[in-house]
Formats: sequence, structure tokens, C-alpha cells
Amino acid sequence: MRVLVIEDEPDLARGLVQALREEGYAADHADDGNEGLRKATDCEYEAIVLDLQLPGLGGLDVLRRLRARRKTPVLILTARDGVGDRVVGLDAGADDYLVKPFALSELLARLRALIRRSVGQAETVIRIGEVAIETSTRTVTRDGEPVALTAREYALLELLAHYRGKLITRSVIYDRLFGDDDDTLSNVVEVHVSHIRKKLGKDLIVTRRGQGYLIDA
Ligand code: CA
Repeated sequence: MRVLVIEDEPDLARGLVQALREEGYAADHADDGNEGLRKATDCEYEAIVLDLQLPGLGGLDVLRRLRARRKTPVLILTARDGVGDRVVGLDAGADDYLVKPFALSELLARLRALIRRSVGQAETVIRIGEVAIETSTRTVTRDGEPVALTAREYALLELLAHYRGKLITRSVIYDRLFGDDDDTLSNVVEVHVSHIRKKLGKDLIVTRRGQGYLIDA
């Protein structure tokens, strides 16, 4: 899953991007409103974290212009005294908000909830036959037994499960799993798919040759 952070405070932005990457997201950053809007409309993200007080184009304008083009879930960050901003932000199409300062764990939990709800998934557990994916703890079981996946394997499995029933092309997989600055050899999708099949069953992930992969709905 890919998340965009639009935030101009360098320390906060760096901390957010790092925390998101540690959680297995591909995370991009923009430090002003214009760049943020450009990235948010050019790329597809599973969610966007949007500070409302930005240089250049303000956060509310970013949100309004984005909403004319895309439905990407947006979590806005507002100042403690920004009740009016929060109301206007929610009315302008924000899906949730957090007041600064906030706990990273809360931001991550709210993002997970936004991303779940964006595909109509209310529960944190995704069940596919004998496989259960607990997205809140990033753990996987098969027939009730824990199965250890690498971070990459988990991220790929969660992406396919999130969009289950839909064909996910290899280019989308690369785009959603690997950040722009990530070109490690571990990015070979076929290898990860093969490892997931060994651990969770060969029929879990379907290959559409020359097109991509899917998990049947
Ligand atoms: Ca700011």
C-alpha cells in the first residue's frame, strides 16, 4: 500500500515517512501544497496524510482540488485550536482528522481503518479460505497456525487481499509496494509470490500470465 504525506514540518514529515515505511507502506512525501496536489493526482495512493497549514497551496485547497479528481482517503492534520478547520476539512471531503500533537500509533491505526473502509472492509481480519490476515498486527495464520512472512511477503499479500477479486498488474504491485528510492533486489515479485504460495498454499494467489496476480473474491 502506498501513502502520501503532505507536511511541511521537516521533523514531523521525516518521522511519519519512517514510521509508515516501518509499517510496510511505500511512503512518499511532499513539503508544500502544490507538490502534494501534483503527487496526489498523478499517482494512486491508498491514503493521504494532509497537513492543513502548508506553504504555497493550503491544505484545504489541496483537498478541494483533489476531491474533484480522486476519492483517495484523506486524513487531515490540524492545529489544536483549529476546530473551524476540522469542520471545513471534513465538509470538503476529508475522511478523518488528527489534532497535533498526536501519537504515531493513533495515526497508523486511523490510516489502517481508512484504508479498510475504502474497500468496504469493516473488520481488521481478512479471511481467505483457511488463511486469516490480521491487518492490525500484520500477522497471518493458516488453519489457525501462525505463519511467518517477511515484510515484503506480507505487504504483497495484504495488497492482493485488499483488492481481492481484482487483477493487480505487476506495475501496480511495484508502484504500491516499493517507494521511488527503493531499488533493492528483493523487489522481484515472482519470488515473493512463490514464497507466499509455499507458506500459504499454491492456490491462494492466481497468476494471470503476462498480466499480473489476483486473489479470488
Ligand atoms: Ca504545517
